[in-house]
Amino acid sequence: MDVKIGVLALQGNVSEHIDAFALALDRLGHGGSSEVVTVRHPEDLEGCHALALPGGESTTISRLIGKNNLYELIRNFSGGIFATCAGMVLVATYVDDSRISTLNLIDMTVDRNAFGRQRESFETDLPVEGLDGGPFHAIFIRAPVVTHAGPGVTILSRLDQGIVAVEQGKHIALSFHPELGGDTRLHERFLKKNGI
Ligand code: GLN
Repeated sequence: MDVKIGVLALQGNVSEHIDAFALALDRLGHGGSSEVVTVRHPEDLEGCHALALPGGESTTISRLIGKNNLYELIRNFSGGIFATCAGMVLVATYVDDSRISTLNLIDMTVDRNAFGRQRESFETDLPVEGLDGGPFHAIFIRAPVVTHAGPGVTILSRLDQGIVAVEQGKHIALSFHPELGGDTRLHERFLKKNGI
């Protein structure tokens, strides 16, 4: 296989990301020469060119990353990380919850449940910097926001509550769920950014 993408599969929206990456790889012409694999244990990461950290419950995923001895491996992973929702919480430098050991991959502070109970889930057409083809139909589910981004972080989109899409180096982090809905433009952008 020429291209291997890992999806952290400890908890959360795993199968949706696998399907979205498979579709994105196909659309980029890698259909026959790529695979998307689940990552649960250190050996699963071997040979992966990029890794997705899906949405779910960030406190639970953080605990399981520790339990499965994946912290250092993900921290030192050479490829890009595609972090969505709970994944965005995990890749931050700081988060407002001491139960979470952050991976410190993107220089930012995250507010875990920024939208509160009043507006736990909603959908909106979101303009995303540099994304061709118009706004992205974004689904937010108990979404986090970035409250502070360091100088090396590029802000791709924001709402009144805060920043909802960023990139730094090979990594992308999104407050919403791009794996739901069939629009693979952000998965494709991430793959291209990683030379795939
Ligand atoms: N706010 C949730 C958390 O911090 C994430 C929600 C989600 O991934 N849909 O775990």
